[in-house]
Amino acid sequence: MPGPDRTPRRIALANQKGGVGKTTTAINLATALATRKRVLVIDLDPQGNASTGLGLPRAGRGDGSYALLVGERPLAELMLPTKVPNLFLLPADNDLAGAEIELVGMENRERRLRQALDAAAETLAKFDFILIDCPPSLGLLTLNALVAVQSVMIPLQTEFFALEGVSQITRTIERVKRVLNPTISLDGIVLTMFDRRNNLSELVANDVRAFFRDKVFETVIPRNIRVSEAPSHGLPVLLYDMKSTGAQAYIKLAAELLRRERAAAKAAGAQQA
Ligand code: ADP
Ligand code: MG
Repeated sequence: MPGPDRTPRRIALANQKGGVGKTTTAINLATALATRKRVLVIDLDPQGNASTGLGLPRAGRGDGSYALLVGERPLAELMLPTKVPNLFLLPADNDLAGAEIELVGMENRERRLRQALDAAAETLAKFDFILIDCPPSLGLLTLNALVAVQSVMIPLQTEFFALEGVSQITRTIERVKRVLNPTISLDGIVLTMFDRRNNLSELVANDVRAFFRDKVFETVIPRNIRVSEAPSHGLPVLLYDMKSTGAQAYIKLAAELLRRERAAAKAAGAQQA
C-alpha cells in the first residue's frame, strides 16, 4: 500500500471565466514541475486545449477523462506519456462535452473524479502532482475537480474586471469546503498576461494583492507572444522557446509553488509535533 507520503498533491486550475490562462498555466506549470517531479495533467475541459497543447490533437484522441468519470475504464489504461519526460496526460475525450449533462443523473455526481482517483491510488503513487485543467464554468465538471483536490489555483488575468469575477469562484470554493470537501484550500492566485507597458496591469495587480495578500503568488506571468504561439505547435512554451519571458516565468512559478508546498508541510509537521 502506498503511504500518505506517496499521495500526489492534487491541484485544480479553476476560474469560471474563459481566456484567463487556466490551460496555459496547467500545461506550462506542469512542464516546469516535471523537471524535478512526476506530474499528471488531467484535461477536464471538453474543448481539450490542454490535450492539444501537450501534443495530442483532437483527431488522435481516444478515451480520456470522460471514460474515467463514468467509470468505463481505469486511469492506468487512459493516461498517456507526453513529449515531456515525467509528464503524463489524461486527455479530454470527444465525449466529454456530454458529461456535464450525463453526470446530473448519476450517483455521487460531484464525487466521481475523487472516487476514480482514490481507486487509482497505486497507479498514482508514482506521481508527485496532479494538475486538473477545468472548463470555463462552475458546472459539474469543475465541481468534480474541486471535490477531488486539496488545493485550487486561480489564474487571474490582470485586466479591469479581474476582481469582480473572482468572487464567484472563491464563493464556490467556500461552499464546496462546507458541503463536499472540508480540506480544500485556495492556494493561490496567479496573475497572468501581465503587461508591463500598461499601467492598468500594475493597478489591478496591486488591488488583487491588497485583497488576497499572501494568497497571491509573487511570480507574475507576463503577456508573451511565445506563450500563445506554443500550443499551435503542440508544445509547452518551455519546449518551444525556453528563453522566452513566458517560459522563464513558469519556471519561477514552479519553484515558488515547491517552496510554498515545503513551507506548508513544515508548518503542518510543527503543528503535529
Ligand atoms: P483559459 O484556459 O482560462 O480559457 P488559456 O490558457 O486558454 O485560458 O488562455 C487564453 C488565450 O490567451 C490563449 O490563446 C493563450 O494562448 C493566451 N495566453 C495565455 N497566457 C498568455 C500569456 N502569458 N501571454 C500571451 N498569451 C497568453
Ligand atoms: Mg482552458
